[in-house]
Amino acid sequence: MSLDFSTLFLVATLICTLLGGMLLYFGRQENISALNWWGTAYLIGAATVAQWQILGSILPDTVVLALASAGFIACGMMWNAARVFHGHKPNWPGLVLGAIAWVTAVVSLPAEASSLRMTIGAAIVAIYAALTASQLFAERRKAMQRRWPAMLVPLLHGSVLMLPIVLAETLPTHGTGYTTNIWVLIFAIELVLYAIGTVFVIFMLVSERTVRAHKTAASLDPLTGLFNRRGFSEATARMIEREADAGRPVTVMIFDLDHFKSINDRFGHPAGDEVIKLFATIVSGSLRMSDLCGRIGGEEFAALLPCSIDEAMTAAERVREAFEGCGLEVDGAPIATTVSIGVAGGPANIELDVLLAAADTALYQAKRGGRNRVVATVEQPLSLEQGRRKAAQRHEPVQQVIVRNAMSIGA
Ligand code: GH3
Ligand code: MG
Ligand code: MG
Repeated sequence: MSLDFSTLFLVATLICTLLGGMLLYFGRQENISALNWWGTAYLIGAATVAQWQILGSILPDTVVLALASAGFIACGMMWNAARVFHGHKPNWPGLVLGAIAWVTAVVSLPAEASSLRMTIGAAIVAIYAALTASQLFAERRKAMQRRWPAMLVPLLHGSVLMLPIVLAETLPTHGTGYTTNIWVLIFAIELVLYAIGTVFVIFMLVSERTVRAHKTAASLDPLTGLFNRRGFSEATARMIEREADAGRPVTVMIFDLDHFKSINDRFGHPAGDEVIKLFATIVSGSLRMSDLCGRIGGEEFAALLPCSIDEAMTAAERVREAFEGCGLEVDGAPIATTVSIGVAGGPANIELDVLLAAADTALYQAKRGGRNRVVATVEQPLSLEQGRRKAAQRHEPVQQVIVRNAMSIGA
């Protein structure tokens, strides 16, 4: 099979132009600036290959090679696109440094040292590719996502696939000039594969991010920014599993604002919303970073703490005191803000629903006992299976088996 060199480079140029236009189009449509960076890099890359092809035969070699510095700017833009995509600022000196190094090499090295020039050029591309891959690797570690294709494509391009350019000069094929060299042909094919592979990776990253953004939005409560019931269940399931592996207990608490309906009735719904937001700030500020909290209903919140029930009681009392003493006023009139809290602790590997049911029963007792207090279950809740068995033996409902006594502290 004979491959025509000019046709291949023409195809590479057209593909790069098409992909660049597509990336810019999506970048504008979705308002993702990294896609604009990637799209522009593709267009500059296409223009570089085109000028090499068209002007290569007209202009002196040195001028054509200097013009190729635009190609290194395109490589720098690919790296900066990865930076911008992950929320970093573009690195402007780094963007042009490769091009400057290349022009310096072309101007200062004699024409005979062409293989050294090519090696320098390949090294610059390899450095940019390694920077792109390391940027993606750092983010992979943060997000714990499987992103090996995102790193593999630039790494292969930089380290392995640029070899033909170096080898073309060091191992020229017999009787053929540089432009018809088989290695340059391989480079053209590699360029097409790299351009297509990279666009595949770019769209993989963009779609992964979009999915993650939707998932996060579906797990958060828009009023308070805390987890909603769904997000809380998912996050707590992970924590319970982790703590169970370590054999440590967990404690759950449910908070219910006292006489909240009357706050709404007296001061209006927006004022009620402000009280909910204030409580969310107090509860997340009073707990540790390692604790999880969420808004699981209108004026109901829950938290899961990776600690024993005794430690959790202290934290619950801290929240109760902070809310009572927050000194909230509406139109200059002070509003009494109090919360009732039910606490339930369980051994490692207890189901969240069991703990929530136990904490709910404790909360009910806190309400009945006069509100503005923390009540904890004393007896450890049983797992659903154990509860069912025990209830069957005693012909009692599960709920009664779970909570026997309650101890009350607080006001
Ligand atoms: P208790 O001390 O027994 O808990 O009394 P309560 O008034 O707090 O409890 P109740 O369940 O009777 O009322 C809860 C109220 O919370 C009723 C509902 O209108 C209000 N509510 C639920 N979600 C929201 C919300 O997002 N914003 C506001 N402002 N009010 C809400
Ligand atoms: Mg309620
Ligand atoms: Mg309430």
